[in-house]
Amino acid sequence: NGLKKYFPIKGGFFNTVVGQVKAIDGISFHIKRGTTMGLVGESGCGKTTTGRAILRLGGEKTAGQVLFNGREVYDIPKNEMNEMRTKMQIIFQDPFSSLSPRLPVGEIIGEAVKEHKLVPMNEYEEYIDKIMDECGLQPFHKGRYPHEFSGGQRQRICIARALALNPEFVVCDEPVSALDVSIQAQVINLLEDLQEKFKLTYLFISHDLSVVEHISDTVGVMYLGNIVEFGDTKDLFANPLHPYTKALFSAIPIPDPEAKMSRIILEGSIPSPANPPSGCKFHTRCKECMKICKNKVPEKKDMGNGHIVYCHLYDDVKGAE
Ligand code: SF4
Repeated sequence: NGLKKYFPIKGGFFNTVVGQVKAIDGISFHIKRGTTMGLVGESGCGKTTTGRAILRLGGEKTAGQVLFNGREVYDIPKNEMNEMRTKMQIIFQDPFSSLSPRLPVGEIIGEAVKEHKLVPMNEYEEYIDKIMDECGLQPFHKGRYPHEFSGGQRQRICIARALALNPEFVVCDEPVSALDVSIQAQVINLLEDLQEKFKLTYLFISHDLSVVEHISDTVGVMYLGNIVEFGDTKDLFANPLHPYTKALFSAIPIPDPEAKMSRIILEGSIPSPANPPSGCKFHTRCKECMKICKNKVPEKKDMGNGHIVYCHLYDDVKGAE
């Protein structure tokens, strides 16, 4: 709710703070229990920082709230935070670097289970076997090391490590981007199966719009630290409203040789979050930019059915508000 995360820029002779990078600049959204919210946008728009900030990874927030089951995550005392972390897990993009090469996979999956004493020690081995099995891994491979597994299997190990803690909410940060296309579908199917079985809630961060369309119930589109559009996945893909979303979605390949591609090419690159444009941050690249866009930040507009857009084009359109 209004979450901000700024990073200081230090410089000068005394290494003092000379500015700040506004990585997340006041974003609000909610994810219903048992559903998946996709978060899309160009590299550097703040998707990963959002995922990490929700989990209270990477220091304090700058402003706003993160509510998990109604509780402000940043107010949880340190001694309770460990327990809270078991409920909120993250799966990283790169299954190659996020696994310790020195530990056998059984230990990688079970390390935190032991630390949090989630199961009695006499049931521990059986528990790890069950988790590996749930994630499509052969339990008799638990003595092997990460380098002995393929990329897809390593991502399964990462998923098993998260699942072993019995989480309620999982941030999936580009979980299939580093995998071959043929393996991506298997991992996506696994995430969907586990969600159904264990009633998991996902924040699914990705730049792959086809994957997000497939897996998500709702989608948020980010640009330069802000959510510019949010809504039900079907609604948003069928009827994108924000000029940035339209440009992003026009880049999705259509598997039909007859189909006419009307690709919207965005000129220029994403501006620096250390010095974002005034008014609507997208105005430097928007083909529909008006005078007001350069000075006034667009307000939230509910276009009905929870379809939210931040754009002056809809200022006079009758919305749901
Ligand atoms: Fe374009 Fe203006 Fe809408 Fe921003 S507010 S996306 S500049 S039309």
